[in-house]
Amino acid sequence: MKEYDKTNHLSAVNGDNRNADKDAIVQQALKLGFSAAALIDTDRIPFRPEFRICCEDNSCGMYGVNYACPPACGTTDQMREQVQSHKNALVLQTIWEAPDLEDKALLKQCKKKHNALIRKLIQELPPECGGGFMIAASGCSLCPECAIVKKEPCRFPDLMASCVSAYCIYVQELAEGLGWDYDLGQGLVAYFGMYVFG
Ligand code: SF4
Repeated sequence: MKEYDKTNHLSAVNGDNRNADKDAIVQQALKLGFSAAALIDTDRIPFRPEFRICCEDNSCGMYGVNYACPPACGTTDQMREQVQSHKNALVLQTIWEAPDLEDKALLKQCKKKHNALIRKLIQELPPECGGGFMIAASGCSLCPECAIVKKEPCRFPDLMASCVSAYCIYVQELAEGLGWDYDLGQGLVAYFGMYVFG
């Protein structure tokens, strides 16, 4: 598993950043290793509640067995309202070399590293960015088996994170609206996430 050399690719800084502090946050994310980062208003995030059926199809195997995934995570309206109750979304992308997109184990590791990078960034953000929450690239994988399976309470409720799919965020539209590549072609895969705050 190898993170794509982002110097070969687009590193986008969105033009919406309205002051030096916001630009500094974006630069901090890029410096940490994200291939693209942008700080936008949450009202720019496209939600598509009809995407919930993709979770219900359960191709990822997480439906009903993870607190961060449907149906336990909340309805589509509740998920959208959770995001829109905050003003800012720091949208983040990583790009990975993935010669075989059928290699589920490799993709899982890439997602895990992507999510860990978001957590690291959140820890390093200035205190004025506190009080937010993370949106990940996959269902919560903090525990080897989610506590929901044994009908126990979530072990890390302050750290659990739902994925962009659970929020029904139309990631392709969002990414392309920011001028980022979504479909990178053969051998590369992009993952997305956010930190929502303010
Ligand atoms: S922290 Fe553990 S128990 Fe809580 S949602 Fe994540 S995997 Fe499940």
